Amino acid sequence: MSKYETVIGLEVHAQLLTKTKLFCACSAKFGDPPNSNICPVCTGQAGALPVLNKTAVEMAIKTGLALNCEIREKSIFARKNYFYPDLPKGYQISQYEKPLCVNGKLDHVPIVRIHMEEDAGKLLHDTGDPAVSHVDLNRCGTPLIEIVSGPDLHSPEEAADYMRKLRNILVYLEVCDGNMQEGSLRCDANVSIRPAGSKKLGTRTEIKNVNSFKFIENALAYEIQRQTAVVEAGGKVIQETRLWNQQKGTTEAMRSKEEAHDYRYFPDPDLLPLVVDRVWVEKIKGTLPELAGEKALRFAKQYNIPEYDAGVLTAQKELAYYFEECVRHHPSPKKISNWIMAELLRELKVRDQDITEIKMKPEQLARMVALIEQGTISGAAGKGVFMAMLDTGKDPEAIIQAKGLEQVSDTGAIETVIDKIIAKEAENVKRYQSGKKNVLGFFVGEVMKAMKGKANPKMVNEILRKKLG
Ligand code: ADP
Ligand code: MG
Ligand code: ZN
Repeated sequence: MSKYETVIGLEVHAQLLTKTKLFCACSAKFGDPPNSNICPVCTGQAGALPVLNKTAVEMAIKTGLALNCEIREKSIFARKNYFYPDLPKGYQISQYEKPLCVNGKLDHVPIVRIHMEEDAGKLLHDTGDPAVSHVDLNRCGTPLIEIVSGPDLHSPEEAADYMRKLRNILVYLEVCDGNMQEGSLRCDANVSIRPAGSKKLGTRTEIKNVNSFKFIENALAYEIQRQTAVVEAGGKVIQETRLWNQQKGTTEAMRSKEEAHDYRYFPDPDLLPLVVDRVWVEKIKGTLPELAGEKALRFAKQYNIPEYDAGVLTAQKELAYYFEECVRHHPSPKKISNWIMAELLRELKVRDQDITEIKMKPEQLARMVALIEQGTISGAAGKGVFMAMLDTGKDPEAIIQAKGLEQVSDTGAIETVIDKIIAKEAENVKRYQSGKKNVLGFFVGEVMKAMKGKANPKMVNEILRKKLG
């Protein structure tokens, strides 16, 4: 057992999938030309007044409900004051003391709070001139929710796992696109160590804006080892904000932690308290989609597949959809699940692809499974067809024809080959007839060899048994 115990808490920022910003009607779209989606409200012109986006509130409530939170009847938007060139207002509107959602749970991990806030703009330092930076205010005022976990995660793997589950839920709910690379989903990872068995929290550091599952694991593992070395050498961990440097594989100090009062939070005088009607909450509850957990239970029951398979197939919304589409085209759920679990998931990993990026359509995989069942191709030939479908997106029938993989299920053709082999192998025929039944395997092998592996194995077995007597 290690001398120290790791304590981790994640603050996750998720960009909401609204069409417009949190307090104005500007488009919240990513990737438009710089400064094309701005107005007096989101650029902080004097006298401009914010108007709260109802859809954003609804998405935050949805998330709160899916994470088993209490939805506060009354929550308050505050101003978080600080200066930064990408923040023309000089403050960010965020829920501070009274967030919208509190006391939730994701599996065993407590969710302390979910609050709404607006995002800041973006600085572009890469202008070609080291003396010049540009600012793009398109992101100013786009809606975010921040989901804060309790300090109840105890390893980098557990933290990444929590983050994966959280991402799945947000994507299932259609409140966030979950794109970590573009920054629509990002995480600040807080971590501390303490003597094993101690109940008191150690001093934490916060790693800012980690934007992949892998980086979360790597950054936390590095930081745990760094803190351990500091403590072992008799030193003290300093509470500070650090940045993960992926190239070097280390975290670097960014700034010592500001205290909350540095932001001089106070309720925004331009915004009334947000009052959420109970009837509305109930209505939203009724619109919650089936989440991964429920879907897994349904898959296991409806499709009669093992719970383990159902869990894997529903871990990602798009994968669950893919499976159900396959089954809709060819109702052989167990066989389709086997192909997805064994072959498809392995190939996705090898090719570093996501299920949404592949060329093979669900109906094509379904048809291939059907062709194997009908005996048109062998299971072994199916593997080649499967790979070709992934590579090219072509139909299974076309691939089978082009590669000449069609199985021979013509009784006459198989019988002719078998007759020839029986005539040649009189010795082995005798052995079989004297009770050595395993010689059958030898005959099957010979027939397959003669027919270049294309004979329908079931028919070969049947005909051989009949002829050998
Ligand atoms: P702030 O908003 O100032 O960063 P919070 O107290 O709200 O601070 O905590 C932020 C996150 O840090 C939470 O996810 C919480 O679980 C986590 N956290 C707090 N204290 C510790 C600690 N000592 N070690 C690890 N994580 C911690
Ligand atoms: Mg923080
Ligand atoms: Zn605007």
